Amino acid sequence: MRGGRVAIVGGSIAGCAAALAAHRGGADEITVYERAAGHLADRGVGLAVHNSRYAELDSAGYMDADMPWVGLVRRRWYVRDRAAGPLGHEIGMMPFPFRTYNWGPLWHELRRRVPASVVFRPGVAVQAVRPGGEGAEIHTAEGTERVDLVIGADGYRSAVRAAAFDGVRPTYAGYLAWRGAYPESRLADPGPWATEDCVYVVFAGGHLIVYRIPDGAGGHRVNWVLYTAPPADLDLGLGGDLRLTAPTSLPPGGLTEALSSHLRYVHDELLPPYWGDLVRATTPDELFLQPMYDFTAPRYTADRVLLMGDAATVARPHTGAGAVKALQDATVLESAFATATNWPDALDTYDTDRTVAGAAMVDLGRRLGRALVEETPPWRAMDQTALETWWKQADGGGAFGGRELKR
Ligand SMILES: Cc1cc2nc3c(=O)[nH]c(=O)nc-3n(C[C@H](O)[C@H](O)[C@H](O)COP(=O)(O)OP(=O)(O)OC[C@H]3O[C@@H](n4cnc5c(N)ncnc54)[C@H](O)[C@@H]3O)c2cc1C
Repeated sequence: MRGGRVAIVGGSIAGCAAALAAHRGGADEITVYERAAGHLADRGVGLAVHNSRYAELDSAGYMDADMPWVGLVRRRWYVRDRAAGPLGHEIGMMPFPFRTYNWGPLWHELRRRVPASVVFRPGVAVQAVRPGGEGAEIHTAEGTERVDLVIGADGYRSAVRAAAFDGVRPTYAGYLAWRGAYPESRLADPGPWATEDCVYVVFAGGHLIVYRIPDGAGGHRVNWVLYTAPPADLDLGLGGDLRLTAPTSLPPGGLTEALSSHLRYVHDELLPPYWGDLVRATTPDELFLQPMYDFTAPRYTADRVLLMGDAATVARPHTGAGAVKALQDATVLESAFATATNWPDALDTYDTDRTVAGAAMVDLGRRLGRALVEETPPWRAMDQTALETWWKQADGGGAFGGRELKR
């Protein structure tokens, strides 16, 4: 299939990958609408990509070695234990074949790969989308465009998804992720923590994940995420009951005093001293909060509207596969375009593959969320064998880091 006009809503990871996919798949005119003006402001935090998923995305042409990364080899599991010293008691160790990325440099590299023939329109918000059987309309402050296909790459609060599937939106999972990152040079003693180690520090009702990411200038940043449920009466400053309100988050510098004080309790009382100090070294403007949500759209396409990335599916980040899934969506889109002879066939091929993949990742996220946050095991009683058995049950089909890309 060659030709056609494609509008992409959102110019983040999924939007840039969609532009590459549509171009390689043969679309004639491609426009990306990104409501943020200029370059997207990154929060300087990280994401991880399984080595096998990287290899697939590299061979499909969506990632490559020029995108700055840090290689991880193993993950160590620690629990607080006064007798064991500052790092805590090491319950066990597992292989961890992942590469880590800093969102900002990764996005810049993807953006750089979007061909010059694609019209990228920063600072233009899409106000409405009207899907139809033969095309779709896209409305901005500047007017209305008629296109053959609208790709919704507009994130977890997607307006494109709302136009196609009214009322489908992420649901609150019942706990929060505090996130932070800062230059490695701030660590008082980096020695006990090897660069190739990802660390899981576990406690009853949650865990902390720590790994290094590139800083984009040849050095490293410390990147951490702490998952736990807040006390029921804590003032989150998020506008009411998260089960009822629209999905939201708190930007860097925006934590309420109650949230900061709960974080202080976790790093002082629940984490071993070394890891507590590592979290404590984060300044307020390097710290932000994301309530955990999950959902998947009932289908990835509706008429001439197609969803990608977080607009289609948000799986809890325990899966280690959010950005991977967005990039995989793009590879499937490219081959659906390239092999089909008409729009309905291309959309059907994409939908069949990605709807199943999205549902599988949401299931995995829920299973891992139960195991790692909601129904944590008696960590102190576990040893290497118990840890391995527990992880095998939690991971189920072994899709941690993302499902294999069928090609
Ligand atoms: C600025 C930014 C920084 C991020 N930093 C990190 C990070 O450090 N680590 C991490 O793991 N994840 C980060 N994420 C999230 C991560 O990118 C996603 O979870 C994942 O990569 C899938 O992304 P996505 O492209 O589907 O959605 P998103 O990254 O959420 O992108 C959606 C894009 O659509 C645009 N948009 C939304 N509505 C409209 C509209 N009506 N009209 C036009 N444009 C619209 C938004 O401005 C945004 O750029 C970040 C996201 C953003 C936007």
